[in-house]
Amino acid sequence: MSMFYHSTRSRNENVTSKQAILEGIAGDGGLFVADGLGERQLDLALVARQDYGANARLVLGTLLDDFSPEEVFGCVERAYGSSFDSPAVTPVSPIGTDWLLELYHGPTSAFKDVALQMLPQLMGIARGQGGKDVMIVCATSGDTGKAALEGFADKPGIGVTVFYPAGKVSDIQHLQMVTQRGSNVSVCGIEGNFDDAQSEVKRIFADAGLARRLSERGQCLSSANSINVGRLVPQVVYYFDAYAQLVRKGVLETGDPVDFCVPTGNFGDVLAGYYAKRLGLPVRTFVVASNSNDVLVDFISTGTYDRRRPFMKTISPSMDILVSSNLERLLFYLSDGDCELVASLMSDLAERGAYSIPDAMAERLHATFACGRATDDETRSAIRRCWEDDHVLVDPHTAVGMHVLGQRERDGVARVCLSTASPYKFCSDVLAALGEDASGKDGFACMDALAELTGTTPPAPLSALRSAEVRFADVIGIDRMGAYVEGACERAFS
Ligand SMILES: *Cc1c(COP(=O)(O)O)cnc(C)c1O
Repeated sequence: MSMFYHSTRSRNENVTSKQAILEGIAGDGGLFVADGLGERQLDLALVARQDYGANARLVLGTLLDDFSPEEVFGCVERAYGSSFDSPAVTPVSPIGTDWLLELYHGPTSAFKDVALQMLPQLMGIARGQGGKDVMIVCATSGDTGKAALEGFADKPGIGVTVFYPAGKVSDIQHLQMVTQRGSNVSVCGIEGNFDDAQSEVKRIFADAGLARRLSERGQCLSSANSINVGRLVPQVVYYFDAYAQLVRKGVLETGDPVDFCVPTGNFGDVLAGYYAKRLGLPVRTFVVASNSNDVLVDFISTGTYDRRRPFMKTISPSMDILVSSNLERLLFYLSDGDCELVASLMSDLAERGAYSIPDAMAERLHATFACGRATDDETRSAIRRCWEDDHVLVDPHTAVGMHVLGQRERDGVARVCLSTASPYKFCSDVLAALGEDASGKDGFACMDALAELTGTTPPAPLSALRSAEVRFADVIGIDRMGAYVEGACERAFS
């Protein structure tokens, strides 16, 4: 029992990992971190011998040490026992002389499944028997909403409500959400864009009247977004497991260095890699790959984070983001846990829209992190090149990573690019990148054309959408979202 969590911005309040998972965000607006991270180094030789489940138990048991071994065992079994379509869960496969870490074999075909199949298990235990009913409320630009629905569907005592911007998600993403099964789920389109939905969800969380009415019925609201410790920790596992796979393939000897290239939005995925490094994984460099929303590339290059720039809509929409929330945790660790400094940088960001880190911190940043960007055209070229040169079909997010990796000089160190979604989630953009005409084709026509052209097979849950029943057709104005959440609570918890 050593891992206590506190805010990145102060050490006033120490909580267990169970409390951190239930609360999501610290009272002062900071993110939960543990000073003890890295005190215990994982045994790489052991990791290399173990399968995904055993490595998940090792990592979770280390970072969430108020969960008993039996609890961790059950969580891992329920999250990964049968819901991924690869026995390896996150298999590593070759692409040219590099490697892809395939994170999209879960039920919704995006890497968010790895975390969102686990978070509901952890929350279920943290909530305990007879705790309040918890309604997860989530605004989504596409991937997170479906992964949350699938993870929380029919979880006792927990419900989930997802708002998506009507007409602004892909055909396939839309069908994935509105056909979701489960008695505790609600899905609703809103008239507006993702930012409108997100702002209103934040307002709903802060609505004291609503909180009181729900509390009288033994209910409360919570979020499942990527700053939750319960989403971060499960992602640490696949960095270790990828290393183990490469050792077993004879590509690495235990202890050899490795580089990871990570298509990045909110900085959750790459931060999990940094946690793995702190726990003893011999990573030389993390390459942060951005699309045209390249605020992180500028930050890593200059030490100044400046969100005052236009928001670009790209063909890798899950990385369209101007404020990468999880970066706050890296600032905490790079400053050796200087909460005061982190708090002042975050207040600069809130007040001025920008902050700069001290030189010593920038030096430590550069020792481990590199970066690069890809425009939409470069992303399309990368999709085409991966297909033509290596016969590997990649989605636009992965292609951003492959473009950035391709720009870097190669030396002897093994390189792994994280592959974050199935290309079949973004059929029309992938088809167009391969030089086919996708205009006027709906999602399924694109899916068929892509399968025919490449001889690859769409993931079964995506093909099955053809015959799935649409359960949720509501589209509402922003002003009705609060009332919708109350209705969703009544339906889920009656
Ligand atoms: C969410 C997402 C990302 C970005 O991951 P972060 O943890 O936000 O950096 C990349 N690719 C896909 C497909 C995603 O869904």
